[in-house]
Amino acid sequence: MTTGVTERLYYTNTRLAIADAQVMEDAHDGGDRYVVLDRTIFHPQGGGQPSDVGEIRTADHTFTVVRLTETSRDGVIRHFITTQTPDAAASLVGRAITMEINLEARLTFARLHTAGHLLANIVEEECPGLVGRRGHHFTGGQAFVLFDGVLPAKESLTALKTTLETRLAALIAENRPIATHADGARTVGIEGLKAYPCGGTHLEHTGEIGAVTVRSVKIEKGKELKIGYDVR
Ligand SMILES: [Zn+2]
Repeated sequence: MTTGVTERLYYTNTRLAIADAQVMEDAHDGGDRYVVLDRTIFHPQGGGQPSDVGEIRTADHTFTVVRLTETSRDGVIRHFITTQTPDAAASLVGRAITMEINLEARLTFARLHTAGHLLANIVEEECPGLVGRRGHHFTGGQAFVLFDGVLPAKESLTALKTTLETRLAALIAENRPIATHADGARTVGIEGLKAYPCGGTHLEHTGEIGAVTVRSVKIEKGKELKIGYDVR
């Protein structure tokens, strides 16, 4: 069976935790089994955001989704699966499945990722010579956003940290709507702030982010500003 672009249900609904789909391909890459679905609620790692975790179920078997990869060339998402059931080797092609993600983990990822957008907007406004380059929105005290361009003076970093925390708290308290547009390239925009191209999962209002702490503000390798942060 030929496979086409995987429809990404998470593009329009961050909170959709269970949905049905059809298996288009069931194959192996190295020794690892994967399926391609006509549509998915699983976000594959990318854009600084980790992959979702969850499972795929048929009428007879349950499979754990252990890893997701995305081929940017053809827009196909591979769901790598394992199962404890010994008789689950038969091809799933053409079968209807139910997929379910861990919603709590998804929302934690979306909170960290959306906070990263907010932080990028604020830093670019506060330090007009800086441009957000990339983010890493993983859990466990690892989240950061990196900027390059005209770096602020080292002596100003403590004051910048305070400004960022104050402005983050204000924008979150204002509960601003967040709009995702998918006409052509997908973009995400927080009301009143600059929009960015992004394929990630976002919340609908800044208030859903919760409290953000800025963990660290430092200049690395003499050429990048790195802002570490956490959501609580
Ligand atoms: Zn995003």
